[in-house]
Amino acid sequence: MRLLGKAVAAAAMAAACVSAVADEYHAKPKLVVILVLDQMRGDYLDRYRDDFKTANGFNPSVDDDDYKVVGAPAGATITPGQSPRNQMASTLGDEIVLATHGEAKVFGISLKDRAAILTSGHATQGAFWIDQKSGHFITSTYWMNDLPAYVAKFNASGKAEAAAKEVGGKGQNFYNEVGATPAGIRYELEFAENVIDAEQLGKHAVTDMVTISLSSTDILGHAVGPNDPKQRALLDGADVELDKFFTWLNAHVDGGMANVWVAMSGDHGVAPAVGETQKLGMPANTFSYAGLIDAMNEELTKKLSPGNPQKFLLQGGEYAYFPLDQRVWEKLHMSEADAENMVAAMLPEVMAKTQPGLPGSKPASKPLVRRVFTKAQMASGDLPNNDLGRLLQHSYSPNGGWQVFALFGEYQLPGAATGTTHYAPYSYDRHVPLDFYGSAFIPGTYHDRVAPVDIAATFASLLRINQPSAAVGHVLTQILKPEVEPAAAAPRTK
Ligand SMILES: [Zn+2]
Repeated sequence: MRLLGKAVAAAAMAAACVSAVADEYHAKPKLVVILVLDQMRGDYLDRYRDDFKTANGFNPSVDDDDYKVVGAPAGATITPGQSPRNQMASTLGDEIVLATHGEAKVFGISLKDRAAILTSGHATQGAFWIDQKSGHFITSTYWMNDLPAYVAKFNASGKAEAAAKEVGGKGQNFYNEVGATPAGIRYELEFAENVIDAEQLGKHAVTDMVTISLSSTDILGHAVGPNDPKQRALLDGADVELDKFFTWLNAHVDGGMANVWVAMSGDHGVAPAVGETQKLGMPANTFSYAGLIDAMNEELTKKLSPGNPQKFLLQGGEYAYFPLDQRVWEKLHMSEADAENMVAAMLPEVMAKTQPGLPGSKPASKPLVRRVFTKAQMASGDLPNNDLGRLLQHSYSPNGGWQVFALFGEYQLPGAATGTTHYAPYSYDRHVPLDFYGSAFIPGTYHDRVAPVDIAATFASLLRINQPSAAVGHVLTQILKPEVEPAAAAPRTK
């Protein structure tokens, strides 16, 4: 992973007022912004660096100064209320709130509920995401019974409708139609500006925080893959929109961007589209996830219930998990471990027998099941004592029924040759950028192996607060400017 210290613009500003440096340094920033781009692979910023022409977008330049859904539109179909109740650890935002005895204000914003809620946390003042059809921002009774007046006003402003019109959408689903375009990024960042302005974030005595998760790169990325010109155009659009946002922040936070720290990352990378990768000679291929499940059910029926077809495996699971129908197995008096082991043992063979891959595939690129790990195995921690084992353990959740997790060949995915997805412990799915901006950081490009979990550890250390309760990240000391001892600073007047 790559790490980029982007303290350039802020460092230039701080240098202009040297006498205040020590004091300013020890003063905490007014606002922390955590920006997560969904499916932002780590190589995007370097590959398209020449495209990013703005001063304050991806590419800051030195020369420039600078419980129930609430608010759903009538008739909207929505899932039950959302909350961070199942989040099993505190967040950086929670810890800021705790450390300031509730004085700090923390908000989460995204087009998706989970991305707004889980990045911000429990003790926040609010999280906002959209009703997928209309694009209007909503929240949950976990925080409030009515939308704040400024959110209702934003929803009534016609911005969602204008964005839908701009992209030529049919008005059927804002999330899919507008979400995959720069207009979706602009819409979300304009809403963030509204929240920051109305809630006076960055104007309090303590540090406030806002987490913004931009979903657009993921929505389009699944459809076209990371190398498609459309994805490149979306990133160029994101650069323009981020430039506008940071320019706006500079004018609206007390002290401007010199008082803002930003961390930007992605939640995961992505595999290249299978068709193009295979053409380049890689052992890439596709197969049918649903077809593999059907074939498994046929084979298991032959083995365990001849003449009486049973659905031992369920369709509709979250790829690359294969959920078992516990009831069917229990009727055969089989335990979870026995059932999952049987599925794990059969999957590679059934894949080889039933999934030929793309027409004309070379034998070396046939779809293959490399390893299978059962839920019983993960629950007991019976995993290889290596990086793969640790990655699997981190993705394990006790929720959900009997299931197995399959590791397919590198660059192999279900579906068409054109679209793509992310699920694997392979590097392309884990490679994300990690960028920091602010007066605390030494500008530069760093090549150490780092992780997004290091953001919380680093910010917690800088802010002199507790790390999140389950934090595993490291403080990135290599990017931090040396701190001036308070004793060396000019004496304060009382
Ligand atoms: Zn995705």
